[in-house]
Amino acid sequence: MILRKSSLFLLILFATISCSRDNCDSSKDLECTNFDISSENKPIVLPVYMDYQATTPIDPRVLQEMNYVESNVYGNPNSIHKLGKEAMKMVEKSRTQVANVIGARTDEIIFTSGATESNNLALKGFVETYAKKTGRRHIITSMTEHACIQETCKKLESNSDIDITYLCPKSNGLIDLKELEEAITPNTLMISIMGVNNEIGVIQDLEAIGKIAKKHGVFFHTDCAQAFGKIPLNVDRMHIDMMSISGHKIYGPKGIGALYIRQHSGGAGLINGKSEKIKLNPQINGGGQEHGIRSGTLAVPLIVGFGKASELMKIDYKKDEKHIKRLSEKLKAGLREISGSRLNGDEKNRYAGNLNFSFEGVDSLNLVQNLGDKLALSTGSACGASHFNEAVGSYVIKALGINTAKIGGAVRIGIGRFTTDREVDYAIKIIKDEVERERKEKR
Ligand code: PLP
Repeated sequence: MILRKSSLFLLILFATISCSRDNCDSSKDLECTNFDISSENKPIVLPVYMDYQATTPIDPRVLQEMNYVESNVYGNPNSIHKLGKEAMKMVEKSRTQVANVIGARTDEIIFTSGATESNNLALKGFVETYAKKTGRRHIITSMTEHACIQETCKKLESNSDIDITYLCPKSNGLIDLKELEEAITPNTLMISIMGVNNEIGVIQDLEAIGKIAKKHGVFFHTDCAQAFGKIPLNVDRMHIDMMSISGHKIYGPKGIGALYIRQHSGGAGLINGKSEKIKLNPQINGGGQEHGIRSGTLAVPLIVGFGKASELMKIDYKKDEKHIKRLSEKLKAGLREISGSRLNGDEKNRYAGNLNFSFEGVDSLNLVQNLGDKLALSTGSACGASHFNEAVGSYVIKALGINTAKIGGAVRIGIGRFTTDREVDYAIKIIKDEVERERKEKR
């Protein structure tokens, strides 16, 4: 077998990581030692990871760059000496790598700690700058946004006297565009609608939403934590004014993200009938880094890792898409063989790496917990898990009009760059077995 150096490195790294896990029990049929050096034959290590929307494993190519920076590039990028300049050069390269994925300009990317912070900054920072200036105090969002948008909106309602419209999606999870346009009033300052939903994977029509926003001069923010690098995005074609991005959803490090803030014409929003460079009121004050919008010493290794991960999303786009789509179809077909199974969210307009299933009469929380040592799944957003209400279940599934109590909730199953055929086969088998077992137990 001919192996390229890079893939050998990747696989050895995988094997090392995999086999050193505490829960790797080689006495079972899922052995850790007897493996072939090819990613398709990567040994199954328990629990099989299928929670790619909660976070992704880091790509070894990203880790390699981060390790180099961590050990060698220690200057503060804001220092004016040689070591500082060297670090800043790397930061700027990463900024360009992130910008390139969405057709943005380098100076329109601000590094943050992740999409939670970006969403807070985009909404609060924007309202603080423009609500008074324009007299517009209305934001339109949806009932299926991530908790960090919903909680920020609640804060704006209570602390800043902002009216929020929470659009209810159609039963397939998509926003009704007619309803969106009808919700716009002369008071509307911003629309904030996510790109890909983190629970059900549906892709909103950002281009159509951008067109509607532009027609009415309303600013358009989108939370693309789950969409960045995974679906085609272009800030100009979609008239996006601000976009939130996260590093750890794209095989990059945790604790780093970005906010795209439009600085050139072509966006949706207007101030007094004119487009202008967006200025946000900083939510973190200090040394004035990131154009004074987000103070704090730049986390160079994380930024470099995020930049590399972004670059790889672009380079590997076609390859990832083909791989994930194929495995997703296989998984979907396998799970559909289970009687009373149902795919939640639109069948066509969805990111293939995010499936969401309900199994009639089976409690999703029990299923996820009982399979927990073998398969890493989730009932919904990891961030919302602490607020998971057993009686009500996921607020996203509920917003689709599905009676969660009746169907027993839903299970999110994620597929990513490192998922293998063997893992998908294994997942189908043990989900089937567990659904059957739980049903039998109830009889
Ligand atoms: N928005 C969406 C849609 C997400 O899925 C997540 C993470 O789960 C976030 C925001 C928060 O991202 P981060 O973990 O980078 O703060």
